[in-house]
Amino acid sequence: MDVSKVKVLVFDLDGTVYEDTHHFDYQAARLKDKLSVEKQSLFQQDFDAVKRDEHPIKIGRIYDGINDLVLVQLDNIVQEAYKWNGHRLSNEEINKLYPKPIEINYDTMLSIGDPWWISTSIAGHYGLNSKKCYEAFLETREYMMGPEFEMEPIVGFKEVLSDIHEHVKLVLLTNSPQPDSEAILTKIGLDRLFDLKIFNGEKPTRTLERFEHIKNEFGVEYKEIMSVGDNWINEIRPVQPLGCGTIFIDSHGVGNPSSADFVFECMGDAIPILKKIKNPLD
Ligand SMILES: [Mg+2]
Repeated sequence: MDVSKVKVLVFDLDGTVYEDTHHFDYQAARLKDKLSVEKQSLFQQDFDAVKRDEHPIKIGRIYDGINDLVLVQLDNIVQEAYKWNGHRLSNEEINKLYPKPIEINYDTMLSIGDPWWISTSIAGHYGLNSKKCYEAFLETREYMMGPEFEMEPIVGFKEVLSDIHEHVKLVLLTNSPQPDSEAILTKIGLDRLFDLKIFNGEKPTRTLERFEHIKNEFGVEYKEIMSVGDNWINEIRPVQPLGCGTIFIDSHGVGNPSSADFVFECMGDAIPILKKIKNPLD
């Protein structure tokens, strides 16, 4: 991947342009509040078990709410399936249940591509509907907009974006709504940097449509666009066949070196690559 050829950088918001994570406990608490009392402690046990990596729910997997199963998939083809207690289904059972590619949605087939979906999937297992889960999400966004939620900007990130901005267009593409996203951008000082901001992006379902729009908007080729995100299913996998460059922020260690053109544990580590856009001879 020749970074010097990049003309448009497309950034995800949450977990990509900021690294704070303390709001996920707040989100879990809001979801737990909406469950009946007898289910609250079970919810908490599961949430704690996921944190210890002792649960079938993991980043990168899918929660099938209809069959109450946790799935491992690639390009929507189910490869592995686990019951809530961790029991693995046989290939025969998988073929019977999932003869066709699955369709990810926000209701019954949840993509646990980032931490937002961990507690949401657990709440789904205990019967909370998607409307109530979305309410908890919005309450969390409300909290994040307020003064109580302090954010730590990524050291050197704003500076590098400002430096390379004369060479590249900067795009924000997020699944989150506009008001809270703008408030977060303001908190971390990135509110005036982007040439284009797309909210309610509906990734991964509409990732390809969004990238086509971005390509046309700036009159560039796909190979001149680089997608940067922490959710492999949403931001990396769909754009690889187009020929876009990719930077995967793999803070949960779910990928490997071939998951993207560049794989980093955090955005701070990606800064030297971003700097090359400004000066390809470095
Ligand atoms: Mg994200």
